Amino acid sequence: MNIHEYQAKGLLRSYGVPVSDGRIVLRAEEAKTAAGELDGPLWVVKAQIHAGGRGKGSFKEASAGEKGGVRLAKSVGEAEEMAKQMLGRTLVTHQTGPAGKQVGRIYIEDGSDIERELYLALLVDRVSSRVSFVVSTEGGMDIEEVAANTPEKILSFSVDPATGIQGFHGRRVAFALGLQGKQIKQCVDLVNKLYKLFIERDAEMVEINPLIVSDSGDLKCLDAKMGFDSNALYRQSDILALRDETEEDPKELQASKYDLNYIALDGEIGCMVNGAGLAMATMDIIKLYGAEPANFLDVGGGATTEKVTEAFKIITSDPNVKGILVNIFGGIMRCDIIAEGVIAAVKEVGLQVPLVVRLEGTNVEQGKEIIANSGLNVIAADDLKDGAQKIVKAVKG
Ligand code: GDP
Ligand code: MG
Repeated sequence: MNIHEYQAKGLLRSYGVPVSDGRIVLRAEEAKTAAGELDGPLWVVKAQIHAGGRGKGSFKEASAGEKGGVRLAKSVGEAEEMAKQMLGRTLVTHQTGPAGKQVGRIYIEDGSDIERELYLALLVDRVSSRVSFVVSTEGGMDIEEVAANTPEKILSFSVDPATGIQGFHGRRVAFALGLQGKQIKQCVDLVNKLYKLFIERDAEMVEINPLIVSDSGDLKCLDAKMGFDSNALYRQSDILALRDETEEDPKELQASKYDLNYIALDGEIGCMVNGAGLAMATMDIIKLYGAEPANFLDVGGGATTEKVTEAFKIITSDPNVKGILVNIFGGIMRCDIIAEGVIAAVKEVGLQVPLVVRLEGTNVEQGKEIIANSGLNVIAADDLKDGAQKIVKAVKG
């Protein structure tokens, strides 16, 4: 689960990490007061969306002004005007995709004078199963770009969980960033605190880009992106409270409420499968026969009629779906029960596109009979290959 920049900065602040003073604006009429509470002479007006590249992004609506989603203002009035321009508009950045994201919150921050822009991130390295630091002198840029063009400018190392964070980690970061004097102590302190936050809050990713050296020579976090392990949210209630549901795919949100593992994709064939491995195999074979899956969906081992119905609703609510492939292995669940669930779901939700059903496993014959006798326009398939070929043919002709 991701959170907004201003929420991440609130967390950083609570760990004693240096960030600028700022105010969140949810309604246009709050903008003036918010900007007025900050000292100036520089204000930064920042669109809050769960995507990076806001500074270089652009708004879809002309009325939102020409510049990006991070702007510098020289007065309270100017900051207020910018906040009003951006609020409610759709910001497109290279991370949002062409559809962009609607801006529902604006963060107004005390502007900083920047001496240097640096990069610092913590993430879980799956290969070493440890928390890793990624550090670069090239702040304010996309780290992917730096990695592609000048990989020698990136330092990466992991922290041994047995010893935890040590002074030498922070000094290593300071050295890589070319920091001097008081900045070295500040860097060691920053690295310690970020690591503590990361572990205590079950973070998956903490990215500070840019981390700056200000004109007074001090380190400060000017941008912050954070993601948290959704499997740990049960013990992180104050992180969970930061969830912004408007940032999530409505279909994925609905699926999570029914405990369905669903990921929206761009293709035309909706898939309903039980088991993550079978779901992956189903997606692969759809691609093999020349079509693209519209989603990953694992309904899980104990798929009830209610779950199957909900899965159908989610799949059919996607306008890109031109056909549906149900591929279920009845292990603990019996195929006849699943067939009844599918039929009930189709009757309730209705069916505007071709549906291929492939069942295998316990009571498969009864299951197929139920589908055959249902009177619904369902295409039965014998195996995975047959099912994939039939749905691709039904959709592509
Ligand atoms: P992003 O584009 O979504 O990554 O948003 P950032 O918060 O990183 O802002 C983009 C850029 O705006 C930064 O890399 C800085 O160059 C600039 N910026 C952000 N805050 C300030 C500030 O307080 N003062 C100045 N001078 N520039 C800022
Ligand atoms: Mg940034």
